[in-house]
Amino acid sequence: MEQNKLEKIVSLCKRRGFIFPGSEIYGGLRGTWDYGPLGTELKFNLKQAWWKYMVQDQENVFGMNASIMMNPKVWEASGHVASFTDPLIECKTCNERFRADKLDDIREHEEMHAKKKEKVEWTEPKQFNILVEAKLGVIEGEKLTVFLRGEITQGVHVNFKNVIDSMHPKIPFGIAQIGKAFRNEITPRNFIFRSREFEQMELQTYVKPDENSAMSVFEDMRQMRMQWYLNLGMNKDKLRFREHAADERAHYARAAWDIEYETPWGWDEAEGIHHRGDWDLSRHSQFSGEDLSYFDQETKEKFIPWVIETSAGVERPLLYFLLDAYHEEEERIVLKLHPKLAPFKAAVFPLLKNKPELVAKAQEIYKDLKKNFSVAWDDRGNIGKRYFSQDEIGTPYCITVDFDTLEDDAVTIRDRDTMKQERIKISELQAYIRKSLE
Ligand code: ATP
Repeated sequence: MEQNKLEKIVSLCKRRGFIFPGSEIYGGLRGTWDYGPLGTELKFNLKQAWWKYMVQDQENVFGMNASIMMNPKVWEASGHVASFTDPLIECKTCNERFRADKLDDIREHEEMHAKKKEKVEWTEPKQFNILVEAKLGVIEGEKLTVFLRGEITQGVHVNFKNVIDSMHPKIPFGIAQIGKAFRNEITPRNFIFRSREFEQMELQTYVKPDENSAMSVFEDMRQMRMQWYLNLGMNKDKLRFREHAADERAHYARAAWDIEYETPWGWDEAEGIHHRGDWDLSRHSQFSGEDLSYFDQETKEKFIPWVIETSAGVERPLLYFLLDAYHEEEERIVLKLHPKLAPFKAAVFPLLKNKPELVAKAQEIYKDLKKNFSVAWDDRGNIGKRYFSQDEIGTPYCITVDFDTLEDDAVTIRDRDTMKQERIKISELQAYIRKSLE
């Protein structure tokens, strides 16, 4: 089951309109994925849950949204031009390229050749920069080579001065961003786990440059980030922290921990929490010539703050939530997604579609619920089939309008996880659904 769970998720995502291979009708584009109607809702809900928890529920955290294309000097200052690299090796037999540190991929490739009785020889590893380039401008020969951002972090740091000048935050404070990032990944793999275009959700917390206050914020962030997954119903036995070994950390990182999930291919990264010291602001001060220090009104001190970063992808957690929610039961496949994440919060059915009075009443309820929630309508096939169809896309509640509804203004509401049905008044439906979202 675990072995082919990923394949089952890929197939469900395609069949039910969550995620499709990018540019599929043209044979695809490796490392890109397109989100369909349900995947778009799921992704939106995931980002919204992060934003609510990390920004709106917090004091002293501000949101921002920077450009994907930035002045190329940004990437020199951040160190990405010099060292945003992965070690690359090439198979001399078929010229396919791999990341030298991804031993599973290499082993798999060697086994493939071994089956065909072919010998494999590898080239020496060489460093490959994974920033994606684009050409900007209209005059040939004068086009500026820019990079599509390889991480969203820098867009926040280069706006540090703008945010403090406009918002006057008291330290410690945070700046959060969600947005696309691009990497020329050598081996995109495991569905949306490693792709060339993806989204990130990040909070940069600026703290006083002293180890005690920095580590206290770091520890709070670590706990807070783990809690986010648990609040959204992820199985706690499948989550763990992993501290980076010294040789894994960027040279400027003073501490680095990952949150990992136990995937069908083993424990793997969901996100990272990093203590970046003053690396970012110092480098941008140096390269831009702007003074990016902070003046503390209380202590009258001026300093370059340190940064504690939490950096999550959107797609990796999304995939982990799908893996975690996927259950095969005797008669059905069910996605036990937290109602906050579920693409639809409820589905409304008329018991029979050829009875205008049932359809009219069901439509009335559907339209009323739709004012506040994302709700599906289904009148195809029999009720049992409709239940299973909604289970498979994770809809927490199915609401059926039958002949009794016309008399008693009540409906049957069926719970996705327990499959229990109960009768409730139409007037109580909104509150019932809202409660599940708290
Ligand atoms: P990896 O070692 O797996 O390539 P990373 O350690 O380089 O990842 P970071 O640079 O720390 O990743 O990026 C922060 C987060 O962004 C990751 O935890 C992950 O959720 C997400 N992420 C990074 N690269 C990709 C990618 N190619 N596809 C999808 N998500 C990604």
